[in-house]
Amino acid sequence: MSAANGKLICRPGESADLIVRGARLFDPRTETDAVLDLVVRGGEIAELAEPGGAEAPDGAESIDAEGLLALPAFVDPHVHFRVPGQEHKEDLETGSRAAAAGGYCAVIAMANTAPAIDSAAVLGSVRERAEREASIPVGFVASVTKEMKGRELTEMADLADAGAIALSDDGLPVGNARVLRRALQYQRLAGLTIALHEENPDLSGDGVMHEGAVSATLGLAGIPAVSESTAIARDCALAEYEGARIHVQHLSARASVEEVARAKQAGVAVSCEATPHHLVLTDEAVRSLDSRFKMNPPLRSSDDRQALIEGLRDGSIDCIATDHAPHAIEEKEVPFEQAAMGVTGLETAFAVLHTDLVQPGVIDLGLLVERMTAGGAPFGIEPPRIERGAAANLALVDARLEWVVGEDGYESRAYNSCFAGRRLRGRVLMTVAAGRVAYRQRSFAMGVAA
Ligand SMILES: [Zn+2]
Ligand SMILES: [Zn+2]
Repeated sequence: MSAANGKLICRPGESADLIVRGARLFDPRTETDAVLDLVVRGGEIAELAEPGGAEAPDGAESIDAEGLLALPAFVDPHVHFRVPGQEHKEDLETGSRAAAAGGYCAVIAMANTAPAIDSAAVLGSVRERAEREASIPVGFVASVTKEMKGRELTEMADLADAGAIALSDDGLPVGNARVLRRALQYQRLAGLTIALHEENPDLSGDGVMHEGAVSATLGLAGIPAVSESTAIARDCALAEYEGARIHVQHLSARASVEEVARAKQAGVAVSCEATPHHLVLTDEAVRSLDSRFKMNPPLRSSDDRQALIEGLRDGSIDCIATDHAPHAIEEKEVPFEQAAMGVTGLETAFAVLHTDLVQPGVIDLGLLVERMTAGGAPFGIEPPRIERGAAANLALVDARLEWVVGEDGYESRAYNSCFAGRRLRGRVLMTVAAGRVAYRQRSFAMGVAA
């Protein structure tokens, strides 16, 4: 286990003893693709055996998984759990439950809370709460600047010692280049990756959606793609100059993918992520003026979406992040211009990408699983693997099962899913995270003792 894995926290629980019978075990990282029985003993993958060839541990639960997929569980590098201060939107219990329901075994929570996670004291208190409330391991990001005001740096070395997994002012860019430059210099001491929400506020202005033909038709103020790509270009140049490591959050535009690809080619230590909503939707969805399609960065053109898919394929985009951003109903049920930015995403990420990208053959399942499990790598977290001796981190999926988003409610406290009402194909039935059973879909009955 890496040092970063040790910074992930959840409540104590009983280590699982399971035998998963007859699933197709599929892990591109270990080149596993076979129907096998999988034995989990004391929370560890103890055995992979030909069907019927494994002996169950004493008292183990036997799971009939014929026809199901067993995948390494997913890791989300970017969620908002609203703790401390905005628990009416989400908390560590509901947020981690939503993550487990989406097949995640670990998530990284952002620091733009109220107050921001900008000191060892605030960080310590959320970590304590995670020890009581989180059903899957959560890593906490601390902010780059005090109160996320973009002026004064936080005590990065103290925050690293206190268990911060990364640094980010996400929600806001670090607008001042001198401040970011100093943060990148200190980063070498603190050893934490800096994750960046890339946006030039002067260019974004009062924009509420992507600047393009649709915003012109609707008469809404636009956020141009160059607001993001020019910020990325600046920050990649600074990271190169200072020899620092950065992670670019939620890429949304073709020009952004090109900037990151160019920086990677030049040897800059930069990684990046894209969200399911940017990978499957475009600004056409905003014609409905439904505030569930309002987020930052905004849904962009179909050419931008195409570039994200290409970036996923060619490795310019390292991982998939939901940017799960729960909001209260009253913040969303207002006219589009006034609505809060952000959408939830943990419970739908796999199913959306499976339905819209894998099933039509746009990308293959191996690529999807690889990118959905790689979210911790930019922060030093080892991706989960299906192999003997590894901690059990598994998502049991029925790839044929159809379901309608929101029909059975949500595990999240929030309702602002941009996929509500959509019929999707592929559903997580059970999640094992850090060796414990973290989630079981209601329809998926408890197995019997072997
Ligand atoms: Zn952001
Ligand atoms: Zn975010």
